[in-house]
This record gives sequence, C-alpha cells and structure tokens, in this order.
Amino acid sequence: MSDATITNGKTCGAYGLQAKAEFTGQPKLKTTSVREEGISEMMNLRNIPAIDELLGLPEVNNFIEKYRRDFVVQSLRQATNEVREELRANGAEKDKAQLTTAIVERAYELLVKSAQGSLSRVINGTGVVLHTNLGRAPLGNQAWEYMQEAAQNYNNLEFDLLSGQRGSRYVHVEDLLVRLTGAEAALVVNNNAAAVLLGLTTLAQGKEVIVSRGQLVEIGGAFRIPEVMKASGAVLVEVGTTNRTYLSDYNAAINDNTGLLFAAHTSNYKISGFTAEVDLKDLSRLGQEKGIPVFQDLGSGILADLGEWGLSGEPTVQACVETGADIISFSGDKLLGGPQAGILIGKKKYIDQMKKNQLTRALRVDKLTIAALEGTLLEYLCGNPRQGIPVINMLTQSSACLQRRAEELKDRLAEALLSNGKISKLEVVPLYDMVGGGAYPTYQLPGFGVQLAFADQSLEKVTQKLRLTSPALLTRKQEDTMLISVRTLLEGEEHLLTQLLAQILL
Ligand SMILES: *Cc1c(COP(=O)(O)O)cnc(C)c1O
Repeated sequence: MSDATITNGKTCGAYGLQAKAEFTGQPKLKTTSVREEGISEMMNLRNIPAIDELLGLPEVNNFIEKYRRDFVVQSLRQATNEVREELRANGAEKDKAQLTTAIVERAYELLVKSAQGSLSRVINGTGVVLHTNLGRAPLGNQAWEYMQEAAQNYNNLEFDLLSGQRGSRYVHVEDLLVRLTGAEAALVVNNNAAAVLLGLTTLAQGKEVIVSRGQLVEIGGAFRIPEVMKASGAVLVEVGTTNRTYLSDYNAAINDNTGLLFAAHTSNYKISGFTAEVDLKDLSRLGQEKGIPVFQDLGSGILADLGEWGLSGEPTVQACVETGADIISFSGDKLLGGPQAGILIGKKKYIDQMKKNQLTRALRVDKLTIAALEGTLLEYLCGNPRQGIPVINMLTQSSACLQRRAEELKDRLAEALLSNGKISKLEVVPLYDMVGGGAYPTYQLPGFGVQLAFADQSLEKVTQKLRLTSPALLTRKQEDTMLISVRTLLEGEEHLLTQLLAQILL
C-alpha cells in the first residue's frame, strides 16, 4: 500500500485549485463564482480513486497478468492525471464509479498503445517514392534476407575466415562497391551526412574548402553545408555567385592553405535561367593540376541508368567516378534503394586516410546495415534491380502498368465501398508522382491513381482517421478530393487500404 499515492493525489488537487484560479485570472470581485466552481471541482477531484484502489479491481488485475505490474501502475497514474486535467478543464459532475471506469479504460488504451511501440507501418499512397518522413527506401527481399541472417546468427563481421585473424568490418561491401562504381576504394558510414563530415574532417580540418555559392544548400533535416563545414573544423571559402560560378573562381581562390575543392549536389532545388556551374570533370582536372583533392557530395547517388524511364539528367555514380573526382559520397537509402548508410568511394589514398580517422569509429555502420547493403548491391551486380529493388521497381513502372493497377484499385474500392453511399466520387485519374529524397527535384513522373470524394465526411476527417488506422494510410489531397497514387503502393496494399477505407467509412 502506498500512502504516497494518496497524499500525492490530494496535493495535486490543492495545487490544481490554485492553478485554476490563477490561470483563469478571475477578477477578485467575482469570488463567489470562483468559490462555487472551486467547490464542485474539489468534490469531483475527491471522487478520483487512489492508485491502490484501482490496483484492487479485477479488470486491473487482468492487465497485470498481461503486462508488467509497474507498467500498469505507470499507465494508471498517467490515466488518472489525464482524467483529473479533464475534470479541471470542463468541471462536469462525475461520481466515483464513473471516474473509476474512465481511468481504467484510459489506462487500458495507454497500455495497448505503448505495448505496440511507436514506429509503425504506413501505406504510402502519396506517390512520393523516397520520402524521408516515411523512412525512405523500403528494402528488397534479398536485402532483408541478408539482414535477417546477420541479425540472428554469429558472423564474420570482423573476422578473416581465411587467415583466422581479426578482420575489418569495412571489407564486406568494399569489393562490391569498387566493382559496381569503378572507384579504387570504398568506405561505408552511418549516413551521407556522416560521410561528408568524415571527408571534410579528414582532408580539410584547419584548412580552406572552396565551394560554389550556388551549392551552399540545406538538405531536409538540418543538414546545411556551411554548418557541416564548421563542425568539421574546415574553413569555408565561398566562390562565385548564387546563379553563376566559373572554374576561374575556384582557381583564383586556391592558396597554400586550400585543403579541398568541394561540390555539393543541389539535391532539393533547382536554379534555372541564367546559370552556370562548373562541370565536375573540369573541377577534377583543376584539383589534379593543383594537387588538391576534389570531393563531390552526390546526395542521392544512382547506380542504375534510368534514362529509359525519363529519369535522365542526374549523373550515375559511375559517371562521376569517370570525371576523375577524388572522393564521391552518397546515401544508401535514397535512389540506391538500400538501408540508411553513407557511402564514400574514390581514390584509395584518401579513403585509407578516412578509414584511419578516429571519427570513423563513431560513425561506423552496424552488421545489419552491412548485410542489407550487401544484399542490395548484389542485386545491382548480379540480380535484377528493376525486380529486386522496390525503389527502382517503382520508378520504372510503365504508364500502362500504372493505369491497369489504378483501374484494378478502383474496381476493388467500388466493390467494397460504393454500396453504402459514403463515396460520392471514384475515378481513375492521371497524376504526377515525385522521386523525392532530394533527387530530380523538379521532375514530375507521370503516373496514375484513384480519386475519391466522400459524401458525408469532410476530407480532413477521413484523412485524420486514416492516419490513426493500423497500418496508417497516407494520401494526397487535390482540392476537396483524395488522391491515392498506385506507384508507391507495395504488394498487397491495394487490398489492405480497401479494408482500411471500408473500416473508417462504416
Ligand atoms: C540527402 C543528402 C545528404 C544527407 O544524406 P543522409 O544520408 O540523409 O545523411 C547530404 N547531401 C546531399 C546533397 C543530399 O542530397
């Protein structure tokens, strides 16, 4: 029995009264009404059961059998606090039995919710293939199989089976990356932000790094080139202007303290009109002449040429290597379609320096990432990326295929939803999808989807409900209709989302 709980309850109640009087800021003249309100509230608060009383209830004992006791106690406390706050806010008259029921029900909801964890599945009906808020690339089967194998068994992560000696975790994907990109060496770290930080710290700490003013970008999630530069201890030297930078600008800025020529992919925006950026090939040649390494932060980094599907204009990683750039970095979970990782490829001499940097230990990838990345890269090397890598599959679906899928989804929805009169519009429509993830920022991928309007619920209400189903369904809005793009729906999700819609429109 805990007296503390009961005392606590009383104390809170007393504080509550004060807080309320202060908060409402009632003028002193109106003391009677404040007192009346205060009294009824106090009666209410007195009716709140103590935690020990709640713990004696049979239904609460059922909770304890299913969940840990202290987890149940925590939830009861939280539920009690929430109910108390509500009483204070609305002051409705409630007896003890009502309050007990309210608290027990609330506690149960909290238990169920917490016991599910917070990271949960979302069906992506937005048509944005790489959505950082939605976890970027969903993994392919091979990546998942490799990951699962590594997760549930011991492995040779840092053990050289040939020599029986200690090995390095960095060898595992290096060979694959070298083969796929044509670079001399490779290193994988936690993400591309880490890759850029490691590159700058290793090659330019205390030195000057020359960057075009047109490339001082911010990528979503607070990755700002000037800030990363500062964190690395390198000194940023800006050259050119926002819209035009020439090779001569770099050349003029080079001095004895120049450590690096840095080029950043302006991933998420495009300057158009009167513009000029220096070709990576020309920048690399300048670096070579002056003996200064050239670093290209490529951002998305694409291994498969998707020109055939309209996605041209972004250089492949291989093409960047061919320019002679010394180091190139890109993400594992953008257009590559693998796990979160930062991939550094380039000249062996520089990659070796980065491997030796103490910072690498702090930025290192775990075995699961290595396994998933290996599974993904093998798909490029000797599999079929269009089949095996969901991101590539989504980006290369033909218009005819997308249209057929949209027709099928429409038929499915019609069968499930049209009879009860809750849908006032259901049509297949052409629409534009997006690559996302900071690639092809202005490119609109022609796609297809289903457009819905609802008869007796607002679009906001429906979309809100769909965010709270399990899994959640995210869609797009066009005026007062809902658009579901089929491109980003994964296998079986047409069926699932039909059920979800039927469920919330009941
Ligand atoms: C996305 C992006 C980054 C950050 O990559 P993460 O893998 O998210 O850390 C850095 N630079 C560019 C140009 C990017 O597009």
